Amino acid sequence: MMAMEYDWPVFRPPSEADSLIIQATLGCSANTCKFCYMYKTKKFRVRPAEDVLKDLQWCAKHERGVTRIFIADGDGLAVPSRELVRIIRSCYELFPDLERVTSYANPKNLLEKSEAELKEIRQAGLTMIYYGIESGDDDLLEKIKKQATAQEMAEGCAKAHRAGMEISVTVLLGLAGKNGSENHATRTAAVLNRISPRYISALTLMLGPFEKNYAKAMGKDFEFLDKLDFLQELKWMISGLAVKNSVFRSNHASNYLPLKGDLPKDQARLLETIAYGLKHPETLKPEEFRAL
Ligand code: SF4
Repeated sequence: MMAMEYDWPVFRPPSEADSLIIQATLGCSANTCKFCYMYKTKKFRVRPAEDVLKDLQWCAKHERGVTRIFIADGDGLAVPSRELVRIIRSCYELFPDLERVTSYANPKNLLEKSEAELKEIRQAGLTMIYYGIESGDDDLLEKIKKQATAQEMAEGCAKAHRAGMEISVTVLLGLAGKNGSENHATRTAAVLNRISPRYISALTLMLGPFEKNYAKAMGKDFEFLDKLDFLQELKWMISGLAVKNSVFRSNHASNYLPLKGDLPKDQARLLETIAYGLKHPETLKPEEFRAL
């Protein structure tokens, strides 16, 4: 049996650092988002299920004690439902210690799959999806080419919730620049309130060599946020949250101020920490220690 080989680059959420990664798709089926350069070198395709199963069988022979599997690449949920169910079931058959299977999903996937399909996928064992909302501001979503409105994302997530899946969402600070910052923050809080996901991660926009391209796509008035603007945006966002039971994190390496708390319980503490950071910018993470 041939050894499993990854088609690089491979990405996974930080919380899947110890998971076995299996590529059921290559690239991202949307691949249009203006801030995202993860899969620009890949042409999207769904790998034949037989090839994915061969990878799983090879790993089952060579990897011991696998408890988590992450189905890559950019949207594992793009795999046709019947094949995806077959892949997930094989994961549990081949790895006796397996506790969970997760994947990324994009708005298109959740709009395309029916609730019955999502239920079957959940019952096969896909317990959680990672879903990039980025913003709740429709004008901004249009500009960044997310290919979905806030309403469509809320509907897609409600469908996944009804199917029994947990959702871990990411929002992206700084996307709207200075002029659109408050709007981005408050509308993002509003869509998060509608979704009420189990996990919310706030990441900070980091574009490296692609900064100029992004600024150009956003129009001539666009200005990037500075450190304190990011904190102010986070403050607006957290102030507007009224979620039922979410773990909030902004402890990604891209962020200036690491935060973690349970909402709604820790909302006041998170806001106090931000207020302290705004008053004492010298305590924020130096630019050179931020990373993607
Ligand atoms: S849907 Fe996700 S992975 Fe695909 S381009 Fe947008 S942000 Fe990147």
